[in-house]
Amino acid sequence: MKKALIIGGGAAGCSAAHQLALQGGWDVTLVERSPILGAGLRTNWFGGHPYTFGPRHFLTQNRAVYDYMNGICPLRSCADHQFITYVERDNAFYNYPIHEDDIAAMPDRDKINQERKMAVGAAEAKNLEDYWINSVGRTLYEKFIDQYNKKMWLVDDNKKIDTFNWSPKGVNIKSGPRAAWDTAYSAYPYAPDGYNHFFDFTVAGTKVLLSTAIEKFDLEGSAVWIKGEKHSYDILINTVSPDLLFGQCYGELRFIGRDFHKIVFPTEHVFPEHVYFLYYANDESFTRLVEYKKMTHHKSPTTLVGMEIPSLNGRHYPLPFQKDIKLADKYFADMPGNVYSTGRAGSYRYGLDFDDCIEQAMIMAHQIKEGGRDHPVPMEIWRK
Ligand SMILES: Cc1cc2nc3c(=O)[nH]c(=O)nc-3n(C[C@H](O)[C@H](O)[C@H](O)COP(=O)(O)OP(=O)(O)OC[C@H]3O[C@@H](n4cnc5c(N)ncnc54)[C@H](O)[C@@H]3O)c2cc1C
Repeated sequence: MKKALIIGGGAAGCSAAHQLALQGGWDVTLVERSPILGAGLRTNWFGGHPYTFGPRHFLTQNRAVYDYMNGICPLRSCADHQFITYVERDNAFYNYPIHEDDIAAMPDRDKINQERKMAVGAAEAKNLEDYWINSVGRTLYEKFIDQYNKKMWLVDDNKKIDTFNWSPKGVNIKSGPRAAWDTAYSAYPYAPDGYNHFFDFTVAGTKVLLSTAIEKFDLEGSAVWIKGEKHSYDILINTVSPDLLFGQCYGELRFIGRDFHKIVFPTEHVFPEHVYFLYYANDESFTRLVEYKKMTHHKSPTTLVGMEIPSLNGRHYPLPFQKDIKLADKYFADMPGNVYSTGRAGSYRYGLDFDDCIEQAMIMAHQIKEGGRDHPVPMEIWRK
């Protein structure tokens, strides 16, 4: 049997372990630094309420990925979900993505519509600010995007954010009912403990080493050292920040982290019906609140809300700055052909969600089977 070593036991690592098990012929070891699998996707309990670290709503456009997850953790549809944003200067909550009906009700709608007519389009945009102003005009940018992204990325100027292909969701202003334009499957597990079963099920048959660190990498020699012992592998699947494999020889890859707060409210519900997340686009320190009951359907006379505050604690969000992406690319370029790097940190790609980790694992398994990282993957595998 050939040996596969997986680093990291989050969505990407566990999905990879399962794809190799389905393929067969692999002796798989997964090394996880913490005492648990699943990282922030794991359900914990507070005040009797189930919660994850942030919302972790299952949203995908890929039917194969939806079916796969539904087969492991049966999913309840969340197709009714709405996200709204608080805009203090209007003292109003508006839909996100931005919606025509809300614009029509805004006090400055004439100015907004004038700016939209003048907008030149995002084709020549050089940074996030240009991208949005050129698409929707300055007033909408200031209401929804400006402060939110400064908070999110800990920057004083959105011109510093010089990639934006991760931010197309709101550029096309929506109109009509959600069902007409939202093509994603929106879901959450029925199980009270959310995705926890996924993290047990996917690693059945894998040797899992929890609370374990890799002391040394020898990528050219296809070996690592754990507790002083050498472990050889045929393929290495990395799901953690790629700089760690190289002793950060070109410099440390930067990430934004999160401080997370859990708040119990003394009422059965606090958000309006159908509203799952609230975004805050002003100068409050938090970016997003989630009322977990909307997804979990947990029954209780109280309700639990999670609050996210961007910080430097944790390596959750790879930076959308060219400089940082180029640095990550230097590490990717140095990876030998038997090293695969996937997942959010492993790809160093913001906007890569749970469903994407599964999709990447499916693609990777196909490439491994067909003979290598650059092997093309037929469309039907990744977009059904
Ligand atoms: C606050 C927040 C909210 C989110 N909400 C959603 C959502 O609603 N829907 C959605 O689809 N996605 C959401 N996501 C994104 C989604 O959860 C991630 O895409 C997914 O969890 C990434 O999985 P991963 O395996 O790549 O990384 P991680 O989940 O970070 O897993 C990496 C694992 O590697 C381990 N590790 C780290 N370093 C080492 C090391 N040196 N050696 C061994 N192990 C190590 C970590 O302990 C961790 O277990 C959210 C993310 C955040 C941060």
